[in-house]
Amino acid sequence: MANYSGVQAESPESPQRGETPKTEKQRARLKRHLRKANLDSPEAKRSTLRRYISSDSSCDEDEGGTSTQISLNMRRGAISYDSSDQTALYIRMLGDVRVRSRAGFETERRGSHPYIDFRIFHSNSEIEASVSARNIRRLLSFQRYLRSSRFFRGTTLPNSSNFLDDDYNGQAKCMLEKAGNWNFDIFLFDRLTNGNSLVTLTFHLFNLHGLIEHFQLDTMKLRRFLVMVQEDYHSHNPYHNAVHAADVTQAMHCYLKEPKLSQSLTPWDILLSLIAAATHDLDHPGVNQPFLIKTNHYLASLYKNTSVLENHHWRSAVGLLRESGLFAHMPLENRQLMESQIGALILATDISRQNEYLSLFRTHLDKEDLCLEDENHRHLVLQMALKCADICNPCRTWELSKQWSEKVTEEFFNQGDVEKKYCLGVSPLCDRQTETIANIQIGFMTYLVEPLFAEWARFSNTKLSQTMLGHLGLNKASWKGVQREQSNGGDDTDPAFEEMDSDVVPQERLS
Ligand SMILES: [Zn+2]
Repeated sequence: MANYSGVQAESPESPQRGETPKTEKQRARLKRHLRKANLDSPEAKRSTLRRYISSDSSCDEDEGGTSTQISLNMRRGAISYDSSDQTALYIRMLGDVRVRSRAGFETERRGSHPYIDFRIFHSNSEIEASVSARNIRRLLSFQRYLRSSRFFRGTTLPNSSNFLDDDYNGQAKCMLEKAGNWNFDIFLFDRLTNGNSLVTLTFHLFNLHGLIEHFQLDTMKLRRFLVMVQEDYHSHNPYHNAVHAADVTQAMHCYLKEPKLSQSLTPWDILLSLIAAATHDLDHPGVNQPFLIKTNHYLASLYKNTSVLENHHWRSAVGLLRESGLFAHMPLENRQLMESQIGALILATDISRQNEYLSLFRTHLDKEDLCLEDENHRHLVLQMALKCADICNPCRTWELSKQWSEKVTEEFFNQGDVEKKYCLGVSPLCDRQTETIANIQIGFMTYLVEPLFAEWARFSNTKLSQTMLGHLGLNKASWKGVQREQSNGGDDTDPAFEEMDSDVVPQERLS
């Protein structure tokens, strides 16, 4: 990592040397925008720039009625203002800078390691022509366009602690008051917060649980950390995106409120649980571990083909924690302990190791020896809680659950399409020709969700647990109805799930 004083002409790795004057022009334009945005602090500048760089490769600006395209997609890295010299723009290049050639890389996210060319998920053509600013605008949702255009008009308040957009502020706040309700509609909340559900909800929960006060957190650093987390989720993933992370965080909050936990958990436990929930799928590439292994992705060798994605989510979370300096005021040993405990929570979400965790939990329940005064026992309970939160979709109301089912299947099928196209062998559950949502969901519920939630209900036999099991039963019945309609009474479960009843669940499954 190197710091470059002033705006560097180009990355040493850039193949676009011929385009230097154009990029200088663009950078000059960016500087103008920064001045226009009238940002108050170096922190705000940095955070806004980060957002600017990592949102989309091109952005529209209406300036005097003229639509102007600004493209910074030829380099990857973070841009920051040095606090001692606010007039100089520093561009910090990451070690593994990627560039976009004319042949086309998808612009990579800051700090995003598992590079996959996602254009092949969305396009049949090998090489796609560059997308014009107007097309980008068309592709943006209304909410995202509104947010970006507000920024360029300089009407955002980057230094304000109130970061909900004005239009929907009231409704989003209203929803936050019910953040502990099991029927919380995260999709609606995400729309009301203009795509900021993860930042808004997690910030609120930190406040609600008294963590900001207890750990003397700097609210701007906290917000900045959460913005980085949210941005490091891939919004083009149909399922593994920031909304899923927000949903898991909301579910985790519901579990933390359960009597057995709320009576015994310390602020430290709650802090780790919320951070782990919010970051548990950080930088997920939208494909599963077997895909990374068979495509010889370096992450697979880095983590020796074991919990590859989970290890990457954890290490990405650690990177953001350190970069944000959120806990810089804590002793080093506390920070190290935090990092390893967050790791243990995130690694527990590896679905291929579910039986391992479930057997341990079941043994404790059989022996009735769980003692929540014991830190290790509390930690196991939190691992189970996060596992439940991660796969709780079938335990939500049908309206919510169905949407999640469609999204996760879309992600599987996208992977299957790529596998077919490149003759990689289609992974189980990923073939849109042979699989159906109903089959996949019935197998998922039978072999993974029901066993987990049955044990959780034994541990925490509350109204919430009964509600979740109730929805689970109803949803499964609904999918069986769909399945009957589609197959006129075929098999109840997807054969791909049946082997999951063995001790070790194959890793081709959900991740
Ligand atoms: Zn997840």
